[in-house]
Amino acid sequence: MEAVECTHCQVTMTSWSTAGSRVSYFQCPLCTRTYCSQYDEVFRARAGARRIGVPVQQAAPTTLPMASLEVQRWAMVRARAARWFDRVEADERLVARALPQARPPQRLEPRPAPSARALAAARPARQR
Ligand SMILES: [Zn+2]
Repeated sequence: MEAVECTHCQVTMTSWSTAGSRVSYFQCPLCTRTYCSQYDEVFRARAGARRIGVPVQQAAPTTLPMASLEVQRWAMVRARAARWFDRVEADERLVARALPQARPPQRLEPRPAPSARALAAARPARQR
């Protein structure tokens, strides 16, 4: 079977085909782009894949794939936010320990309803 290289990752793609079929499929082990041998123009134009006689580079990468810069930045932001929340919680615990114990809220007793006489006395004079 012919060897095909991913032009994005510069690695040899894995290939497979079903029994009795002349169609082959190629997939990059790194970026998982997949190509089909029926679309030969892709290989001729080297639009993502190209045929090679001898594998130039092994499929296994020599270095491990790294997280993108954006992923690394987000990890730093999350770690910084976690540290900030931890500090806020620690400050809250310190303040709660330093403050005197709060008294339990006093229950308000319901007032007795004012009598009719008391209401009349409270009215302004001109309404009498
Ligand atoms: Zn690739």
